[in-house]
Amino acid sequence: MEQVVERARAAFDSGRSRSVAFRVQQLRALERMVQEKQPEITAALQADLSKSECNAYSYEIIGVLGEIALMVEKIHTWVAPQPVAKTIMTLTDEVYIHHEPLGVVLVIGAWNYPFVLVMHPLIGAIAAGNAVVTKPSEISANTAKLVAELLPQYIDKDLYPVVNGGVKETTELLKQRFDHIFYTGSSQVGKVVMEAAAKHLTPVTLELGGKSPCYIDKDCNIEIACRRVTWGKYLNCGQTCIAPDYILCDPSIQNKIVDNIRKTLKEFHGEDVKKSPDYERIVNKHHFKRLVRLLEGQKIAYGGETDEATCFIAPTILTDVSPESTIMQAEIFGPLLPIVTIKSADEAIQFINRREKPLTLYLFSNDKKLIKRMISETSSGGVTANDVIMHYTVPDLPFGGVGYSGMGAYHGKHSFETFSHRRSCLIKSLKMESVNKIRYPPNSQRKLEWAKFFLLKRFNKGKVGFIALALLSAILAVVIKVAYS
Ligand code: NAD
Repeated sequence: MEQVVERARAAFDSGRSRSVAFRVQQLRALERMVQEKQPEITAALQADLSKSECNAYSYEIIGVLGEIALMVEKIHTWVAPQPVAKTIMTLTDEVYIHHEPLGVVLVIGAWNYPFVLVMHPLIGAIAAGNAVVTKPSEISANTAKLVAELLPQYIDKDLYPVVNGGVKETTELLKQRFDHIFYTGSSQVGKVVMEAAAKHLTPVTLELGGKSPCYIDKDCNIEIACRRVTWGKYLNCGQTCIAPDYILCDPSIQNKIVDNIRKTLKEFHGEDVKKSPDYERIVNKHHFKRLVRLLEGQKIAYGGETDEATCFIAPTILTDVSPESTIMQAEIFGPLLPIVTIKSADEAIQFINRREKPLTLYLFSNDKKLIKRMISETSSGGVTANDVIMHYTVPDLPFGGVGYSGMGAYHGKHSFETFSHRRSCLIKSLKMESVNKIRYPPNSQRKLEWAKFFLLKRFNKGKVGFIALALLSAILAVVIKVAYS
C-alpha cells in the first residue's frame, strides 16, 4: 500500500497532472475506455447485481459519460482565476481565487452502483488535477476486478492506481497519508474513515446513507405519486442510497397507496416479477438474510416472497408499521417499503426532525406552499418534491448528505471544487507605498479613525459603488501622503 501511494505521490510531484491539456486527455481516455469496454462493464454489473444491460447502461454508464463530457466542456472556465470584489486597500491589485489540486486523493467506493460510484469521484479528482488511488468495493467483486484491469490500460498508471481488497486492505490503505479521502458507504464505516483521516488531518467527503422519508399528502395525485415512488424504491432491488426508505401518510390513504403500488409493479414487471429483466437481486446472502429478518412480525400487504438460492426478494409493502419496530431503526437498503401513518403534515415534520438527518427527503403534494414549508422546517442532504431520485441527475445540484447522512458534496462543478483547494491570491505591486503607512507603526488615534472610515464602509452598489470606492482610495492616498510624509 505504502508503495502504491508513494508512487502516486511521486507522479503528482512530477507536475504532469496539473496541466489542463493533460487532464482533458486523461478524461478523454476514460471516455474511450467506457465506450470500448461497455460490454465488459455491463457484464460485470450483471454478474454482481443481476443488472440488465439496459439498466446498467441507464444507471451507471450514461452518468459516467455525461460527467466526463461536462468536465471536458467546463474545465477551462473552472480552472481560470476567479476575480473577487476588491476592498479599498486592494483596489489596484489582482485579487482572485485560484483552484489548485489537493495532491493524492483516495476514493473508496460502495457496491450498489459499483462502477459509477468510483468513476464519478475519479473524474472530478482528475479534472481538478490530482493523483487518485481508487478502492472499489470488494462486495461487487467483478466490477472491482474489471476497474483494476481497465484503468491502467487507458489512463496514467502511476497517477491513478487501483487497489482491490476488503476491510484488511482498506484499513492498511487508510493508514497512509492522503490529501483528501472521498468515501461512499455506510455511516458506521464513515466514522472509521474519518478517524483514520484525523490522524493526518486529512479532509474527508463522506457520502453516506440513512433513512430517506417519503411524505405523501392526501392532497395529491396518488396514482402518479405511487408510480414514481415504485420506480425509485424498487430500482436496483431497493439497493439505492437515495431510495425512499419509508412512506409517511394519513391512515385514510394507506390502502390506496398499496393498491396503486401493486398496480404499478404489474405494469412495470408483469405478473411474475421474478422473470422481469428489469428487477435485480440482493447483492449477497448476508444482505438477503438481514432483509428477511426485517420482515419478522410485520404486516405484509403485498409481496414478501423470498428465495435464498437466488437472493430474490419480491417488491414488498408493509402497512401500519410501528416507528419503534426494527425496520424503522436503520436504513433498509432493499425492496421492503414500510408505511407509517401520521395524522398531519406537522406530525410528519416532527417525525422527520426527531430522527437523524436523511440523505434525501421526498414530498408529494399539490400544495406548493406546504412543500416549501416542509423544506424550510426540516433538513436533509437533498429534496425532490413530486418525484424521487431526480435531484441526483442535475449536475449543478451538489449531491451529498448532511449530519449523519454525510458531509461534503460532488457532481459536476461541485466535484471539481471538492477536489480543489480554493486558494486566495492577492498580487500587489511594490508601488504606492505611501498608502500602506496607515497600517505601519507608530500607530495613532488618527490612523485608527481613518482605518475605520475606509475599512468599515460597504460599497456594494455596482458601478456607483465602484466609482465611490475609486474616489475614496484616491482620497486615501492623498490624505496619507499629506498626513504621514
Ligand atoms: P461496502 O460494504 O461496499 O463498503 C464501502 C467501502 O467501505 C468498501 O470499499 C469497503 O471495502 C470499505 N469498508 C467496509 N468496511 C470497512 C472498514 N471496517 N474499514 C475500512 N473500510 C471498510 O458498502 P456499504 O457500506 O454496505 O454501502 C452501503 C451504504 O452506502 C448504504 O448506507 C448506502 O446508503 C450508502 N451509499 C451512499 C451513497 C451516496 O452517494 N451517499 C451511494 C451508495 C451507497
